[in-house]
Amino acid sequence: MAKAATCTKEDLLAELRDAGITDERVLQAIASVAREQFVPLDLRPRAWENCALPIGDDQSISQPSVVSNMVEAAGLAPSHRVLEIGTGSGYGAAILSQLAREVVTVEIRPILALEAAERLRNLRFDNVTVLQADGSLGWPARGPYDAILVTAAAPTIAARLLAQLSPDGGRLVAPIGSMRRQQLVLVERHGGTLRSRDLGGVRFVPLRGIAGFDPIEAERRN
Ligand code: SAH
Repeated sequence: MAKAATCTKEDLLAELRDAGITDERVLQAIASVAREQFVPLDLRPRAWENCALPIGDDQSISQPSVVSNMVEAAGLAPSHRVLEIGTGSGYGAAILSQLAREVVTVEIRPILALEAAERLRNLRFDNVTVLQADGSLGWPARGPYDAILVTAAAPTIAARLLAQLSPDGGRLVAPIGSMRRQQLVLVERHGGTLRSRDLGGVRFVPLRGIAGFDPIEAERRN
């Protein structure tokens, strides 16, 4: 754990730059959100490490470099409305809230949704709404969205999610593949045209719910 005690915010920012993150707004958002507020107390000393950490209920807070990659790919502007599927700790939503006007984030696990909502409220991330529901098919009532970020592994990109993207350059970023490994995919929508790009290999916990993996299988493999 010697490395853990010495890993600072500056170390993380340097690592993100080395990993190819160039968007200064994204780096600024990472710097301004205190990640230690989103991890369990005993893991706080490791909060600035570039790694995923357990957050309880068998889930994890994503690795900062993966969060940064996804947020950078989403190409956010201050006027944007964003949907995040998989609130987890609320950390990703907090980062998004620094870069967009409004963030809607959906979490299927009641305890995590409750904790994240309370945490985000206490930390005054006032432009974030946490919903406890199955978000695997998005949240059409609040759409269309300028960006949709899926932070759990999905077997496919549901057409109903793409339908909630703004036709004016809306972007979806999602890990697509098997329960064990996925490719991070960026889809951009212009009218009826969809353009997609592969952003590299990743490993996320499985998406549950109607458009996710079978829940029993997902729990077993998780
Ligand atoms: N973005 C989170 C990390 C996500 S971990 C953070 O910054 O901490 C993936 C999360 O997706 C888990 O909390 C899991 O419970 C949630 N999840 C899985 N399936 C879901 C679904 N169908 N709808 C909403 N959330 C889901």
